[in-house]
Amino acid sequence: MTDRIFNFSPGPAVLPLEVLERAAIDIVNFQNTGIGIAEMSHRSKDFMKVAEDAEKLLRELYEIPDNYKVLFLQGGASSQFFMIPMNLLAPGKKASYLNTGVWSKKSIKEAKLFGEIEIPFSSEEQKFKRVPVNGEYTFSQESEYVYFVTNNTIYGTQFKEFPKTEKMLVSDMSSDILSRKVDVGKFGLIFAGAQKNLGPAGVTIVIIREDLLDRAPDNIPTMLKYKTHAEKDSMFNTPPCFSIYIVGEVLKWIKKSGGIEAIDRANQEKAGLLYAAIDASSGYYRGHAELASRSLMNISFNLATPELETKFIAEATKAGLNGLKGHRSIGGCRASIYNAFPKEGVVKLVQFMKEFMAGNPA
Ligand SMILES: *Cc1c(COP(=O)(O)O)cnc(C)c1O
Repeated sequence: MTDRIFNFSPGPAVLPLEVLERAAIDIVNFQNTGIGIAEMSHRSKDFMKVAEDAEKLLRELYEIPDNYKVLFLQGGASSQFFMIPMNLLAPGKKASYLNTGVWSKKSIKEAKLFGEIEIPFSSEEQKFKRVPVNGEYTFSQESEYVYFVTNNTIYGTQFKEFPKTEKMLVSDMSSDILSRKVDVGKFGLIFAGAQKNLGPAGVTIVIIREDLLDRAPDNIPTMLKYKTHAEKDSMFNTPPCFSIYIVGEVLKWIKKSGGIEAIDRANQEKAGLLYAAIDASSGYYRGHAELASRSLMNISFNLATPELETKFIAEATKAGLNGLKGHRSIGGCRASIYNAFPKEGVVKLVQFMKEFMAGNPA
């Protein structure tokens, strides 16, 4: 496997090599059943066990309280933008959304179809270079829930502390789920598309407090009701079997790696190396995020000119450092270093950054 390169892709993103190697076997012949994991009935004993084990392990690693359901849904993280207000916001009710980037803007747009939305904080005019701290915003009394994106994948900002409020929190954790410990009990609902930190595209994890299942109005489509999926253990219809299988394997890998605390430490170390390189460059590399908002998952940065950035990305690609182009909405460069991204790749990028700086004086 020496031909694998370092993959800084923002998503779908790098998966642990041992998970891929295991999957390469299981896709042909799953545990000596004689059939592959992607060919198997979702109602078969073998697959039911795969799904059950994945849920069990997720509950264990994330310390999910018993009064929460774990759902494996389809439609991507983006479908949650409308499913949440559709299920949780009765007509005439209000919710609060913190606007910290493209993904919150998109969810605000959908939520407005279902209720009144207040936006107590927005960093849009500051190019989303920061997330708020507690005390910077207030919520109106009648607001039903507080929605925020824990990690802003494009801008490389991340909430270090979550909103302190009596209100129920609802979060898009697509790009930092299982990267650190979270007090799930503070949340009404947590969701994440799997393709950044958990597995391949195709499955969206929803963790929802049980009492919320009954909030949905009757006149919404069956498939779009959380309760439908909760009552059938995500087997109301065919679930994304292969993606669920990979998520299960990634969870096993997290457990083997020492659990979430060990993953968190590794994430801090990896991001620390990169930010140190940026900070030691005397402004040659400029981080997009404000210091206090820096993400451990996505490090977005700029060089002096777009031309220099293009050259940087091209030469990095040649050196086996792939996927460093920033999102089209802000340009520049971005290194996505999710849970499964190996430290060696970060070390190699830091070395490359030094050499590039020396060879291309600004
Ligand atoms: C990638 C991403 C999404 C979109 O996910 P899809 O599965 O493509 O809909 C939503 N929110 C965040 C924070 C993301 O990083």
